[in-house]
Amino acid sequence: MSIVERLRKSSFFIVLQRSQSRAKPPPKKRMDKLDTVFSCPFCNHGSGVECRIDMKNLIGEATCRICQESFSTTVTALTEPIDIYSEWIDECERVNNNEEEEDA
Ligand SMILES: [Zn+2]
Repeated sequence: MSIVERLRKSSFFIVLQRSQSRAKPPPKKRMDKLDTVFSCPFCNHGSGVECRIDMKNLIGEATCRICQESFSTTVTALTEPIDIYSEWIDECERVNNNEEEEDA
């Protein structure tokens, strides 16, 4: 008798099969998908920027896969990708304003 046949006939296998068929489907997520892709403030590509959150090091990073511009910031457990992106936009605006002031 092969191992597979033995397993098929063993009660262990039957219990396993039963528990598998009874297993609940995975719970539905609150949202289908969080927005992690944004338009790039540098090259204006509509979905160039991708945000990642490194929970281990509490670092959030937004990178444009088109022009390779990137921004990183510290995050908390509550930070969402959109927060990193908007911080990047704020940072860009600050830089722009400073440049304008220096020119004037
Ligand atoms: Zn870009």
